[in-house]
Amino acid sequence: MRLTILVPTPHYADIDCLLHYQSNSALPYGTLVRVPLGSRELLGIVWNDLDARTTHERVIPDEASLKPIIEVFDSIPALNDHWRELVKFCANYYQRSLGETALNSLPASLKKLTSPQLKKRIKILDKPVLNSSQKNETYAPKLTDEQVHAISAITSQTRPYLLFGATGSGKTEVYMQCVAHFLSQNIHAQALIMVPEINLTPQLKDRFSERFSHWGAQAVVSLHSGMTDPQRLSSWLLAHRGTARIVLGTRLSIFASLPNLALIVVDEEHDTSYKSDSGVRYSARDLAVYRSHKLNISVILGSATPSLESWHHSRPKSDGGRYIRLSMLHRVGNKEDSNVTTFGSQFPKLCLVDMNHQPRNTILSQPLLTAIKERIACGEQSLLLLNQRGYAPVLFCSDCGWKSDCTNCSAYRVFHQLDRTLRCHHCGLTQPVPRACPSCGNLDIRPMGQGTERLEELLTEALLGHERKNGGCARIVRIDADSTRHKGTLEQMLSSVYHGEVDVLIGTQMIAKGHDFRSITLVAAINPDGALYSCDYRASERLFSLLLQVSGRAGRDAQLAHRAQMWVQTWQPTHPLYSALKDHDYQKFADQLLIDRQVAGLTPFSSQALMRAEGKTQEAAQSFLLRASQAIDAVISASEPNASKHLEENIRKSALFRYRSYITISSPIPMFMQRVANVERAQMLIESSSRVALQGFLAAWQPLIFQQKQKGLIRWFIDVDPLSI
Ligand code: ADP
Ligand code: ZN
Ligand code: ZN
Repeated sequence: MRLTILVPTPHYADIDCLLHYQSNSALPYGTLVRVPLGSRELLGIVWNDLDARTTHERVIPDEASLKPIIEVFDSIPALNDHWRELVKFCANYYQRSLGETALNSLPASLKKLTSPQLKKRIKILDKPVLNSSQKNETYAPKLTDEQVHAISAITSQTRPYLLFGATGSGKTEVYMQCVAHFLSQNIHAQALIMVPEINLTPQLKDRFSERFSHWGAQAVVSLHSGMTDPQRLSSWLLAHRGTARIVLGTRLSIFASLPNLALIVVDEEHDTSYKSDSGVRYSARDLAVYRSHKLNISVILGSATPSLESWHHSRPKSDGGRYIRLSMLHRVGNKEDSNVTTFGSQFPKLCLVDMNHQPRNTILSQPLLTAIKERIACGEQSLLLLNQRGYAPVLFCSDCGWKSDCTNCSAYRVFHQLDRTLRCHHCGLTQPVPRACPSCGNLDIRPMGQGTERLEELLTEALLGHERKNGGCARIVRIDADSTRHKGTLEQMLSSVYHGEVDVLIGTQMIAKGHDFRSITLVAAINPDGALYSCDYRASERLFSLLLQVSGRAGRDAQLAHRAQMWVQTWQPTHPLYSALKDHDYQKFADQLLIDRQVAGLTPFSSQALMRAEGKTQEAAQSFLLRASQAIDAVISASEPNASKHLEENIRKSALFRYRSYITISSPIPMFMQRVANVERAQMLIESSSRVALQGFLAAWQPLIFQQKQKGLIRWFIDVDPLSI
C-alpha cells in the first residue's frame, strides 16, 4: 500500500517534503521509518498526506513505481498527534519546511541507528538501575506567603502564568512544588523545565534530582546541546516512552516528545537564548505557550525582568491580558534555619560613579576600588561585570589613525594580551600583534577601550600586597569564553568562587546567570553604557535586565544582605534606566517602555519579521530583497486571477491581495554588522499590526521569493519575531 512519509528536504531546495513510499502494512501517523531518497537512506516519519503544501502541484505516482520503505522503527511508540501538531505549527509560523523542522528536532543519533540497534539501546535503558540514593521525599522549606500564594494559584487553574519574582525570591521552590503537585496527581504525568543555559546552572539539576530522587533514578533527565549524542538519545527515549517524569533542558527540549506532559516551566523567560539563531528560528518560550495551550495545561514563565511581550500579556484580564501575573517581590532570607524564615526585602543599594568626574582614561574608578578592597578585608566577595572579553576591543595608532580592522568583517579585531594576538570575534581571523603600525610604521600602537583581561591586569596590580581576611594575597578569577575554553574549567572556577577561595570575580555576562553565590556583597558594572546608544530598540530592555540580574548576585545571604551594593560606572548618571535600577523597580521601567513602544508602534504592539539576504556583494543582497518585494506588487497588479491556471497560484494571489494593505515593508538596508567573514548582509523589515495578516502574507509570499534569481546571492531567510534589528 501507499504511505506518505515526511522527509527532511532542505528548505532552500523548495521540493516537497511529503513523499510516497510503498509499505506492506498500514502504519500509524508518527511512526519512524527509514526510506531511500536518491542515493541516500533517511529517517522519515509516517505523515498525513493532507499536510502536503498546496503550492506544489502534486503528481501522485503509480503505486507499483513507488520505492518500498526500508525499515520500521517499531520498538518505540509513534510520535503522537500533539507532537506532530507542534512541529507543524512551528514550521508554518517560522516559515520553514515541515520536513526540516520535524526531523531536525529529533536527536541526531536516531538518524544513524538501524532498527535492531535502536532495540538494543532500549533494552539497556530498560535494565533496572540501582538507585543508591533512593530516599523518601526530601525536605522542603517552609514557604513564604508569596510562594504559598503563587503555588495555590498555579495549582488551581489551568493558565499561562508569569511568575514575576525578584532574584532570590524562591521561584525555583515554586517550580518544584508545582511539579510535585501535578506529577503526584497522575503516576504518568510529566513536566518540562526549561532553562537558558544548563552549564551555567548546574545547581538546578542537582536541586531537582535531589528533590525528586524518590521517583527513581531515571525520573529526572537533562536535554541540552552540551550532552553527547548517545546521552541525548537516552534522555529523549526516556521522555518519549514516559519513563522520565521531569525533563530539564535548554531551548531544544521544547521539541521533546512527552506523551503525558502536565506542566511546562520556562525559567528566565526573557532570556534571548530561547530564540534560535539559525535554521528554524523558533522561540522556545513562545512554543511552550503554544504547547500548553494545545494540551490545556499550565505554563509558568518565570523571571525577575520579564520580556516586554510577557509583561504586556500579563496585564489585567480586564485590559485584555491573557496570562496571570503572580508577583514575588521579596527575597527569601536565611536558608540554614528552617524555623526562622527572615525576609530580606533589602536589595543591593545602587552606587553610581559619574565617569565625567574621573581622571581621563579611568577604567576602574577610585571609589569602586576602595569599596572592593574593603570587601576583601572582611572576607566578602565582589563580582565585576564587563561585557568585552580580551584585553581591549581595538588597537590603534595615534600617528596615522590606523585601527585593528578585520579584513573579512565590518568589525575590529580584539587585542588579546595573553597570547599577543589580534582576534576577530566574528570570523575567527587571528594574527600576531604587529610590532609597529602596519600603515605608517609607528612603534607606539595602543589598546583603546577595555576588556576583561585588561581589567584583571589592572586589578591585580591595584591589589598587590593587599591581604585577605585570613592572610595571603587577594585572589582574582576571570570567567569568560576564553578562560573557560577547556572542559571542566568553568565548573572548577565556579566551585572555587562558591567555596570562598576567590575574592574578586571578573567576567562577561556569563557570570550574571543563576549562580547562587552566598558571599558576594558587591557587584559592579564597569562599562555598561554602550547599550544606551545602541540602534537596537531592545538594547535598553536587555541592559536593564542584565544589570538587575547581576545585582541579584549580591547579598543572597540574609546576614549579608544589608551590605549588598550594586556599582555602576557611567557617563550618563541621570539616565532614567539607572534611576529605575536604583528603585529596583522593573514595573515602572517596563510600563514606561511599553508606552514608548505603543507610541512608536513597535512590538508587542505590532508583529515583525525580518527578511535577510547574504551575498557576495552588498548590492547583490539588497537587490535580491528588492526583487522579492517587487514580485508581490507584480502579482497583485497583474490582471484578474486566471481560472485556467492552477488553483494554488490563485489562492496565493488572493492572499497577497487581501493582506498587502495591512503590511509595511521597509526598503532593504545593510545590516549593522554589514560584513561577516566576507559575506555581505542586508535586511528588510516586514511589519503589521495584525499577526494573522503577517502570517498569511509571509506564507503566500515565500513561494514567490523562491522564484527570484539573483547573481551573487548566497542565501536568504525569514526571521519571524526577530530579537534584534
Ligand atoms: P530564585 O530562583 O527566585 O532566584 P531560589 O528559588 O533559587 O530563588 O531561592 C533562593 C534561595 O532561597 C535558595 O537557596 C533556596 O533554597 C532558598 N529558599 C527558597 N524558598 C525558601 C523558603 N521558603 N524558605 C527558606 N529558604 C528558601
Ligand atoms: Zn600608524
Ligand atoms: Zn572577522
